[in-house]
Amino acid sequence: MDTTTQYVFAFEDGDGKDKKLLGGKGANLCEMTQIGLNVPPGFVISTAACLEYLDEPKRALPPGLIEQVHEQMRALEQKTGKGFGDPDNPLLVSVRSGSAMSMPGMMDTILNLGLNSATLQGVIRATDDPRFGYDAYRRFIQLFGKVALGVPDEAFDKEFAAIKEAAHAKQDVDLSATDLRETCERFLKVVEDATGHPFPTDPYQQLEIAIKAVFNSWSGKRAVDYRKQFHITPDMANGTAVNVVTMVFGNRGDDSATGVAFTRNPATGENKLYGEYLVNAQGEDVVAGIRTPKPLDRLKVEMPDLADQLDELRDKLESHYREVQDFEFTIEQGQLYCLQTRNGKMNTVAMVRTSVEMEREGLITKEQALLRIAPESLEQMLFPRLDPNVKAEAVAQGLPASPGAASGIAVFDADRAEHLGKGQGLKVILVREETKPEDIHGFFASEAILTSRGGKTSHAAVVARGMGKPCVAGAEGISVDVDRREARVGLTSFKEGDVITIDGTSGKVYLGAIPTVEPDFTPELHTLLGWADEMSKLKVLANADTPDDARRARRYGAVGIGLARTERMFNDVERLPIVIEMIVAETPEARQEALDRLLPLQRQDFHDLFEVMSPHPVTIRLLDPPIHEFLPDEHVLERELSELRALAQSARGVTVLAGAMGLLHASESLRREVETARHMVDPTVVEEAIAKKEAMLKKVRALYETNPMLGHRGVRLGMTFPEIYRMQVRAILEAAAECAKSGIEVHPQIKVPQVCTVQELRKVKEYVDSIHTEVAARYGKPVRFQFGTMIEVVRACMRADSLAEEAEFFSFGTNDLTQATFSFSREDAENKFLPLYNQSGLLQDNPFDVLDVKGVGKLMQLAVEWGRAVKPDLHVGICGEHGGHPASIAFCHQAGLDYVSCSGPRVPIARLAAAHAALKSAPTPNA
Ligand code: ADP
Ligand code: MG
Ligand code: MG
Repeated sequence: MDTTTQYVFAFEDGDGKDKKLLGGKGANLCEMTQIGLNVPPGFVISTAACLEYLDEPKRALPPGLIEQVHEQMRALEQKTGKGFGDPDNPLLVSVRSGSAMSMPGMMDTILNLGLNSATLQGVIRATDDPRFGYDAYRRFIQLFGKVALGVPDEAFDKEFAAIKEAAHAKQDVDLSATDLRETCERFLKVVEDATGHPFPTDPYQQLEIAIKAVFNSWSGKRAVDYRKQFHITPDMANGTAVNVVTMVFGNRGDDSATGVAFTRNPATGENKLYGEYLVNAQGEDVVAGIRTPKPLDRLKVEMPDLADQLDELRDKLESHYREVQDFEFTIEQGQLYCLQTRNGKMNTVAMVRTSVEMEREGLITKEQALLRIAPESLEQMLFPRLDPNVKAEAVAQGLPASPGAASGIAVFDADRAEHLGKGQGLKVILVREETKPEDIHGFFASEAILTSRGGKTSHAAVVARGMGKPCVAGAEGISVDVDRREARVGLTSFKEGDVITIDGTSGKVYLGAIPTVEPDFTPELHTLLGWADEMSKLKVLANADTPDDARRARRYGAVGIGLARTERMFNDVERLPIVIEMIVAETPEARQEALDRLLPLQRQDFHDLFEVMSPHPVTIRLLDPPIHEFLPDEHVLERELSELRALAQSARGVTVLAGAMGLLHASESLRREVETARHMVDPTVVEEAIAKKEAMLKKVRALYETNPMLGHRGVRLGMTFPEIYRMQVRAILEAAAECAKSGIEVHPQIKVPQVCTVQELRKVKEYVDSIHTEVAARYGKPVRFQFGTMIEVVRACMRADSLAEEAEFFSFGTNDLTQATFSFSREDAENKFLPLYNQSGLLQDNPFDVLDVKGVGKLMQLAVEWGRAVKPDLHVGICGEHGGHPASIAFCHQAGLDYVSCSGPRVPIARLAAAHAALKSAPTPNA
C-alpha cells in the first residue's frame, strides 16, 4: 500500500460526522448509506482535494486523485452491474458539489454524466424509451455545457423555446422523442459554437472536467458572495467536496417521481411530513419551479405504497439525526431512493414549536431544545401581521411561503431592488416570476419577496424563509412584465414604485400599504422561555418609561424595570410649560412653586409604573439630561424676538399716529383704519411678550454648554438644583407609600446617574433619607426601597469600592461608559470614522453595538470585583443597549452580574441568551 492521501471515500466508508472533510451532503450520504437507507451507490471526493486543486497555480488535480476516482468508478460498476461508457448497459452518474455549510443553490450539479451518442443508444435500448433517453441527454448537454464549459443558459433556452414553439408544446412533457432528439442535436451545436470544440464524448474525460468545474465553483463569484453575506469563514467551511452518485430516474414514467420534503412543516413546525413532488420528473424540476408540484398529501392517493415508505424514511431520519430533516427523494419505477438530507432550515416559529415538541417526544433534552435556537432569531417571532381591523381586498393569492407581512414599493429585478432598497433606503418588495440564485443581492435589499410561479420549496421560498423575510410564492394571478417594470393582476396593474403589501402568512397580495401589528406569543414560546428562565442565572428586566412600555415588557416576560427614564415624563405637552417655568425661575420660591405642580404628576407616573410592575422591582433614574434640553432653541428665540420688536415698533407708530389724528385733517376712512389698528395690537402686551422672551433667551444663553454630554447633567444637576431631585425622590417614595397602603407590593429602586464621586452619592442619599423619614412619619410606615448608582463614568469604575459603601446596587450604563472609555462621541464616531475603523480592522466591531469586552468589559469586571469586596451582596446589572445583545449577555453572565435590562421587545431574546450563557458555561455533565 502506498502512502498517498486518501481523497476519495465510498459512501460505505466515509465518516458521516466529518462534514469539514466530506461536506454536509457527502457526509450525510455516507451516514445514510451506513444506517441502511436506500441511497444510490456513490462516493465523495474530499474538500481537502478541492483546496489542493485551487492552490495549484495551474489548477491541477492532486496526484493520485484520478486513480482513486477510477478505482471507485470500478467499484460502482460492480455494485450496479453497469459499465461507465458501456454502450450495452451504461452507468450514468451525477456530479454534485457540497461544502461543510449548506449553501442552497449556490453551486451547480451535473446530472446524467456518462452519456454520449453510443451510451445514449444503450439507455434507449435498455429502457425501450427513446423519449426518456433524449430527454436525459439534452438535460446533460445543457448542464454540462453551462456548469463545466461555461456556455450561457440563454443560448440553450433560445433553441429550446424555438423547438417548443414549432411543436406547439406548452410544457417540456408535451415534446415528443423526435423533438427532443432535435433538441440534443441543436444543443451539441450550441456547445460547439460557443467553445470551439466538439462536446466531449469520453465519459472519463467528462467526469474529470466536471470534478474540476465543481472545485472551481467554490471560488466563483456566486459562492464567494454568499459566504461573505452569511459570514461563512474558512474555519466553518473550506472548499467543496464532490459527490459522484449513481443516477436514478424520477422521469421514467408515471410510476416515477421526484420530490423534496421536510420531516416537519418548516413554516409552522407541525409534526407532519411536508413537501412537494412531481410525477415523471427529475430533481431540479421541483426546485426550479418549472411545473407547479403537488403537495405530498396527494402521494397517499397516487402511490399509497410509496407514501408509506416515505413515512418510514422520515421516522428513520428523525430518530437518527434528532433534528428536523430537509431531504430529497426520487422514485424510480416504484423504488424509493434518498438523495440528500440536511438539518431543515426553518423559521423561528417552527424552530420553537419543534424544540418543544421534540423534547416532549423524547428526541432531545430541554438543554438541546434551548441551544438549537439562536436567541437573535426570536426577533422573527416579533413578525408584524396585517392589522386585522383594516379591511382590504386581496388582489391575488399565492402560497404562504414565509410568514410575516410587509409593505413596500414594487421592483421587478434584483439590481433595481439593490439600487432602491440599499442605495436609497426605500422599502422595496422584489416581484419576480421566479427567482434564481443570481437574484440573491435583491433579497438582501428587499423587505419581502413575491413570485408568480413556483412552490413552497422554490428558490424564492427557501431563501426568504432562511432570511426570515416574508414571501408569497406562486401567485399565479399576477403576470410579471420585467421589461415594462409592471405587473398585471386581473383588471388592474401595478408598476415599479407603486406600493404593495404582501402577507407571507396567508399568501395574500394587496395593492397599497396596509398597517401591520405586533404578533402574539405562541404557547410553545412561553414554554421554551419558561425553560430558559429555569436554566439561566441572569434575570432579565426591561427598560421602560411608561405604564404601556411596562405592560408590554411584562408580556415579554421581564421581571422588573431596570431603567425608567424620568426625562421622558417631563417632555409631555402638558408638563413641558411647567418644567420650563421651573427652569427659568429666578427665585427658589418661584422654582418651588413649579415643582409643587410637577410633584403630583410625577407621583402618578411612578404609582402607575409600580402598579403595572408589581411585585417586581422598578428602578427609577433621577433626571439625567442637561436641563437646557427642555428649553426652546436659541435661534428660534432670536427670530421670534426680532419679529416681536418689529411688531412693537409698528404698534407704537400707530399709537403716535392716532394721537396726531386731530392735526392731520385725515379722511374719515383713514381715521377708522388707524382706530382699528390701535385696537388690534396693544403695545404694552407686546412689550410684555418681549420681556418674557428676552428673559428666556438670557436663560438659554446662560445654560449654553459647549459639550453638554460632558457638562451640566446627571447628578451634577442634583447638586446645583437640589429641589428637582428632591421633588423626584418625594414623588417616588410617596407613590410607593400610596401603593403599599392599597396593598400593592412595590420594590422601588432609586438610582443616580453620572456619579463620579462618593460625595455626590452621599449628598443625594441625604435628601433621600430626610424625605424618607418625613414620608414614613406621614404614612405611619417606612417605605422599603433601594438606593444605588449608575456606573457610566470611568472614575466610578475606579472608585467602585467607595461607591459600594453608599450604594446597594450598581447599574452599568454601557452607552455612556463606552463613550467615556473610548473618548468617542457616539454620533460623531458612527457618522464619521467608525465605519472605516471597522472596515479596515482598526476596531473589530462597533462598540456601541457589541460591548467592548476587552476595554469597557474590563472596567466592568473591576468595578464588580471591587464593589463586591466592600459589599458582598451588592446587586449588579446592566441597562445600556448592550443588555439585549446575546454576546454581551454572555459576557455579563461571566462577569457575575445579577441582571440585564433591555428594551421590551428584546426581552425574549435576552431570556434565551441568558439561558445559553448559563448552559454554555456550565461544565458538561460527563466531562
Ligand atoms: P443542490 O445542492 O442544488 O440541491 P443537488 O446536488 O442536490 O444540488 O442536485 C440537484 C438536483 O438533482 C436535486 O434535485 C437532486 O435530488 C438531483 N440529483 C442529484 N443527484 C442525483 C442522482 N444521482 N439521481 C437522481 N437525481 C439526482
Ligand atoms: Mg440538493
Ligand atoms: Mg447614561
